[in-house]
Parts: sequence; structure tokens; C-alpha cells
Amino acid sequence: MILEKLLRVYLACGHVQGKHEWGLKHGSATPKFKCPICMAESDRILQLMMGMESAFHLDSESLDYAFNPCGHVASLATVRYWSRIPLPHGTNSFHPVCPFCTSLLAIDKPFVRLIFQDHCYDD
Ligand SMILES: [Zn+2]
Ligand SMILES: [Zn+2]
Repeated sequence: MILEKLLRVYLACGHVQGKHEWGLKHGSATPKFKCPICMAESDRILQLMMGMESAFHLDSESLDYAFNPCGHVASLATVRYWSRIPLPHGTNSFHPVCPFCTSLLAIDKPFVRLIFQDHCYDD
């Protein structure tokens, strides 16, 4: 996978889009992002980022997953591993974090599976 372009993923469905057609619904109390591929509505979109610290990657499998909410991409083994390891956070709480940026991972959905569409590389 190449992240030369700005890619974003819809949190609810995992579809990756490289264009600025986010389908943001205006006027509602909570902004929702509507995926143009499957029409699922997401509360958030994540901007995908490469995790440059190779020591945190458990294998060299394809980067088909992204940590939520920071958007760092990694393989399934890597996201599974880190999302299961609670690290000290604050004085007496433990929480899984993204190894690349130490963002606290979402409890309900610590990572999202990325679904790449061919046309996301189009201009
Ligand atoms: Zn979708
Ligand atoms: Zn991160």
C-alpha cells in the first residue's frame, strides 16, 4: 500500500477514499460522514498515516488496518497486539495506545479494517 496521497477512511465501514467528497451532512446536530461507496454513515473519518517506527510493526504483512482514532496504519497482527496491551496512562489507569503516537485507542473499536477501492488512486 502506498500512502503518497492523503487517504481517509470512514470509521463505520472502513472504505478508504482519496478524494474530498466526504459527504458531510450539514445542519444536523452531530455531523455525519456518508460513505459514497456503501452509503453507511460514520461519525468520524480518520486520516491515514504511516507509522514510521518499524520496531512497532510485528510483521511485514500488508497494512490493511488502522488504529482508531489516530489513523496509523499497520497489519492485522500489529493492531491486534497493541490493542490488547494496556499501557499505564495517568496515575492508576491502564489503556491500550497506538505505539506510533501513544494516542489512546477507542474502547469499542480500537482499529478499523481498511477497504481499498481501486478508484481511490484516481485524480
Ligand atoms: Zn463504505
Ligand atoms: Zn497513532
